[in-house]
Amino acid sequence: MTPPVRNEVLVVGGGISGVACARALDAAGTPVRVLERSHRVGGRMASRPLPAGAEHVVDLGAAYFTVRDEGFAALVEGWRARGLARPWTDTLAAHDADGTWSSTSGPQRWAAPGGLRSLVADLAEGITVSTGHTVGAVEPGPAVDGIPACAVVLAMPDPQAARLLHPALRAGPLVADRAWNPVISVALGYGHRVWTPFPAAFVNGHPDLDLIADDGDRRGDGAPVLVAHTSAERARRHLDDPDGAIAPVVAAATELLGLEQAPAWTHAHRWSYASPAAPRDDDFALTDDLVGLCGDGWGSPKVETAWRSGTLLGRAIAGRVAC
Ligand SMILES: Cc1cc2nc3c(=O)[nH]c(=O)nc-3n(C[C@H](O)[C@H](O)[C@H](O)COP(=O)(O)OP(=O)(O)OC[C@H]3O[C@@H](n4cnc5c(N)ncnc54)[C@H](O)[C@@H]3O)c2cc1C
Repeated sequence: MTPPVRNEVLVVGGGISGVACARALDAAGTPVRVLERSHRVGGRMASRPLPAGAEHVVDLGAAYFTVRDEGFAALVEGWRARGLARPWTDTLAAHDADGTWSSTSGPQRWAAPGGLRSLVADLAEGITVSTGHTVGAVEPGPAVDGIPACAVVLAMPDPQAARLLHPALRAGPLVADRAWNPVISVALGYGHRVWTPFPAAFVNGHPDLDLIADDGDRRGDGAPVLVAHTSAERARRHLDDPDGAIAPVVAAATELLGLEQAPAWTHAHRWSYASPAAPRDDDFALTDDLVGLCGDGWGSPKVETAWRSGTLLGRAIAGRVAC
């Protein structure tokens, strides 16, 4: 019998880490295909038109990104030059449990006029991506649902990767039993801006909220939309019914910001695995049986980490396999 042809690396997950991994493989001349279960790339860099059919998108996942790595800085500069990314702010508000407000300066936060998802879509230009493709199992070989591959990459939160890995694969123990925290993002749309301008506020020690961002401010279009991220505790209570988080989030945002109007519309999005409970030191994993693991679970959980993890893994695979 003819042995199955292994002519490409299969990357499961079309978030920024999977797409960055595919980009690095492609740059090294290694054939690669990304398999993404959603109908679009982006993962947790999620933006969608809200309310449905609206002209402007709302960022429902990552609030912003920061830049330290030289390679990531070069990529972001290209996005900035083409108007895809914009420096947003280096100063955010903070609300403490005792009710006091302060401002906190830090690294430059970046946003995207077309929503953060647009950046992943741009990175995926020229890469073969199969969307609407839900992977059920990664098997020894390695293979994805019976399709043999030169190597397989799982670019996703550890609990999602753990579900796919055959018990005989060495990657299994690396992602087993790693706790991740949930978040429910709630978008609040108003007829006009009914709050004193602020880019975003960390909400410290609050039972329901972690962060509130001015979505129109970060994208630069002035849309009268706030996006609130719940605390993990609040999210856990509504994982089966994310809309149940809307009322407590609206009440908390209204009180914190002193709003005198109710939102005209709201939308809730559940992130069952928003961020890992603890960071890792390693940038990625690549086992001898040619299964790679990358994403923001490798390093500190943020957009830049996910890009870097995927990029480094892609380079490592390109140096190890010949498809
Ligand atoms: C609410 C929230 C706020 C955040 N705020 C910030 C912030 O302010 N700054 C910051 O830097 N970062 C932030 N982050 C984190 C940032 O979004 C992530 O670090 C980054 O997007 C992770 O990218 P990734 O590629 O590792 O994973 P993901 O984006 O999760 O990509 C994984 C992909 O795998 C796909 N997938 C999963 N299972 C399968 C399967 N079986 N078959 C096929 N495809 C599959 C998923 O659909 C998804 O597209 C935030 C995240 C959330 C959720």
